[in-house]
Amino acid sequence: METRAETVIIGGGIAGCSIAYHLAGRGYTDVLVLDRGKISAPLGSTGHAPGLLGRNSSSPTMSALASATARLFARIPQDQPALRPVGSVEVARDRTRMGLLAHKVERATDHGLAARLVSPQELGELVPYMDTSKLVGGIHLPDDGVLDARRALWAMRDEAAARGVSFLEETPVLAFETEGDRVIGVRTEQGVISCARVVVAVGIWGAALMQTLGLDLPLFPVQHPYVYTVPLEMLAGATQEASHPMVRDLDHVFYLREHGDRLGYGWYNHRPLTVDATHLTRADVAFPEQGFLDQVKYDLFPFLKDTPLSHRLNGIFSMTPDGGPLLGEVGGRPGLWLAEAVWVTHSGGVGQVMAELLLGQAPSFDVSGFHPGRFAALSPDAARQTSLDLYNDIYHWPAPPEPVA
Ligand SMILES: Cc1cc2nc3c(=O)[nH]c(=O)nc-3n(C[C@H](O)[C@H](O)[C@H](O)COP(=O)(O)OP(=O)(O)OC[C@H]3O[C@@H](n4cnc5c(N)ncnc54)[C@H](O)[C@@H]3O)c2cc1C
Repeated sequence: METRAETVIIGGGIAGCSIAYHLAGRGYTDVLVLDRGKISAPLGSTGHAPGLLGRNSSSPTMSALASATARLFARIPQDQPALRPVGSVEVARDRTRMGLLAHKVERATDHGLAARLVSPQELGELVPYMDTSKLVGGIHLPDDGVLDARRALWAMRDEAAARGVSFLEETPVLAFETEGDRVIGVRTEQGVISCARVVVAVGIWGAALMQTLGLDLPLFPVQHPYVYTVPLEMLAGATQEASHPMVRDLDHVFYLREHGDRLGYGWYNHRPLTVDATHLTRADVAFPEQGFLDQVKYDLFPFLKDTPLSHRLNGIFSMTPDGGPLLGEVGGRPGLWLAEAVWVTHSGGVGQVMAELLLGQAPSFDVSGFHPGRFAALSPDAARQTSLDLYNDIYHWPAPPEPVA
């Protein structure tokens, strides 16, 4: 087993692999990625993400990170890129929602994204199996898309490995080695690996791992349901992962995409359900029985109510008090870096900017507003409550604090 690498990345999910990929792309390969599982069969959140990639955001930085991710996954892997740019639509049932969508068009334009308001008739043409009779209109964002998160993950791992980055699987990190406040290595069952810096990219396990250093991370794992229908006749013969735009319905905090000849959908209009991830080895738990599916509002897709499901998933991802990621070096702990609460949507851009920061290069995106220490004024209880309150409001999260000078 390796006993030293200049940079150790803990976590071979989409965040960790993206950082490794971007470091390697800059010619820096003294990197070891450790994962407690197998990256070829990811048990973290990346293995579950249906991969809806929306580029528009209240935060210009998040929008830029998503756009960088979309550009990257539109070209890797080379033979069959992970992103399919089918676009997205968001619907409105009344004028108030339509006003909000008009505001989103302005914001998209500010971010350099294509976006326009569309009529119910156009919505029906874009998504032919959607019932538009109760809609007054919507927004169409043609630059959005759906991606295969695993294919993106494996493409980045393969490229990083080909350039010389080392990967060690089935090797859980148990604790950190420190010298004063400085982190100088990690401890595994096989022994200690010393390093100049550690990047923690362990997703929902971040808070538990940071507890080994006595640090409270404002990161809260929550359950999130996503289900797949059986193959549908109306999509029979589909040769692509998706052909029509993904759909978001913010009134019912519901979303839907195609998976070949099946549909998949998820929803957020249920009580946030937290999980203690400490002893979990995979980012999912049993699907809560009765009641969970009853919360789904089927008015846009009435046929779904009677469509059997082929698979029901109760995945887990991380919430933070403002919905943004935790990126950068931990204050007062030299050598300890975080890339936590990263969505696949932002992972390509996050890997790029983290690589730049780690190498002391000028960052392409100003992520200072996502510094891990930004919630220091919140008590752990307040941080938890604020994070959970955001779950039902996931698509409305407020702009993060302005970047600090
Ligand atoms: C149902 C569901 C739907 C989602 N939908 C979307 C979506 O449509 N769009 C979107 O952008 N995002 C979506 N997400 C969120 C997205 O999946 C996650 O934010 C993202 O995958 C997190 O990536 P990660 O690399 O940070 O974490 P993970 O993918 O969880 O990777 C962390 C890795 O760290 C490893 N690890 C943990 N602890 C240790 C340790 N001590 N030592 C060594 N290794 C360790 C794990 O084995 C794991 O491989 C969804 C998530 C879920 C669950």
